[in-house]
Amino acid sequence: MFEDIIDEIRRLFKKSSGFIPLHEPRFQGNESKYVVDAITSTFVSSVGQYVDQFEDRIAKYTGARFAIATVNGTAALHIALILAGVKKDELVITQSLSFIATCNAISYIGADPLFIDIDKQTLGMSSVSLSDFLESKTEIKDNNCYHIPSGKRIAACVPMHTFGHPVDLEKITELCKVHKIPLVEDAAESIGSRYKGKHTGTFGLLGTISLNGNKTITSGGGGAILTDDEYLAKLGKHLTTQSKIPHRWEFDHDMIGYNYRMPNINAALACAQLEQLDSFVESKRRLSEKYNCFFKDYPILFMQEPKDSYSNYWLNAIILSDKSERDAFLEYSNDQLVMTRPVWRLMHKIKMFSNSYCEDMSSSEWVSERLVNIPSSVIL
Ligand SMILES: *Cc1c(COP(=O)(O)O)cnc(C)c1O
Repeated sequence: MFEDIIDEIRRLFKKSSGFIPLHEPRFQGNESKYVVDAITSTFVSSVGQYVDQFEDRIAKYTGARFAIATVNGTAALHIALILAGVKKDELVITQSLSFIATCNAISYIGADPLFIDIDKQTLGMSSVSLSDFLESKTEIKDNNCYHIPSGKRIAACVPMHTFGHPVDLEKITELCKVHKIPLVEDAAESIGSRYKGKHTGTFGLLGTISLNGNKTITSGGGGAILTDDEYLAKLGKHLTTQSKIPHRWEFDHDMIGYNYRMPNINAALACAQLEQLDSFVESKRRLSEKYNCFFKDYPILFMQEPKDSYSNYWLNAIILSDKSERDAFLEYSNDQLVMTRPVWRLMHKIKMFSNSYCEDMSSSEWVSERLVNIPSSVIL
């Protein structure tokens, strides 16, 4: 069976030998042109027309009223959490099955993650587990939500759209509203993914995306904060640019700021990649459809987009029958130079977060023992 899978992957990627990566970038459009233009202009750093253009275009593309370009997705999350009002020693609800950046951003503020289980259909935060938790362990006082066991304020809820598949946004948005918790979507992996026709990252108070080298489109390093709130958008831009008060020559700053603005040279790359995003997503969806047909003949579950959603299928994922089969497949495929990876170690099992509050994790544990990501690059 493993041999059939490797043959199929090699056939799909038209590569009968040699290394097949999990996800590699594609530069087939205006990348060189725009990057050379940025260099020629001498504006390669934090000021320049491409940064502004990227913000306009990503806002238009996602339907957010405002976008703030950042150096990477982790920085975007850090600032989004500050904008949502998260403070030291408060709690931020998130999922244990995520890339570490989500928890790191929470930690930069001195806040702590609180882990909710995932839904096996979406691989993202379970609205059922979230609801159970909020009903049984929290209370609302003065328009804020508090965690009863610790007495701490729950300052934000950060679901993550795993591998590009949207979480159950309708229920999660509603739960956050009822329980007075700002929703911040970690849409790092889901650029191009929609839920009921609306782009991920635009449902909550704030959303963040990433343009890291391994994501669907890349600017080398880069990210963005999305919001419809004009005040937060202005404050976000201020915080990411060292909180400098605009003046023709004076240097004055009114709060602790961050050097988080996306450089213009990266934004040049981002603008070129954004022009190709729709065709990349279409290609990735064609690939996932082929994988889906193939795996129907095997006792392996291929992860498909959840209902009501349109997924970018950033990373394709299969579910094997148990951990030993997963390990055997990882070993076999990587030996065959076909890159495959297990999911990230669950956050509640990472040393720094092992003491964080953690609800039942049975679906997260189940998935983490069985899931393998298989090659998912855009095929042109
Ligand atoms: C990639 C990623 C990030 C952060 O992105 P960077 O641009 O690499 O900083 C955050 N959260 C998740 C879930 C990611 O996959």
